[in-house]
Amino acid sequence: MLASTKDSELLDPALSGDDLLYRLFHEDGVRIFEPTDLRPSCRCSPARAERILAQLPADELPGLAVDNALIVTCEFCNAYYTFTLDQFDQDQTA
Ligand SMILES: [Zn+2]
Repeated sequence: MLASTKDSELLDPALSGDDLLYRLFHEDGVRIFEPTDLRPSCRCSPARAERILAQLPADELPGLAVDNALIVTCEFCNAYYTFTLDQFDQDQTA
């Protein structure tokens, strides 16, 4: 059914997506969900980053450090968290 949509329908600013869905699929019943707010938020945090480092084998940490600093970069929001290698040695021997 979607293939029967004309370009003019898809591009028509007067025809909303909801209207178009209804036009195409009303025979099957159309259920439209509330739009979900997409916010530029990420659940990463310093505590989370620290936990990731804490899960790594202790002897791998020096290899990951640059100038005694361990940097965790979040691949989702590009936030980065910096820890010192000393800080982790202490945590792990405590
Ligand atoms: Zn993040």
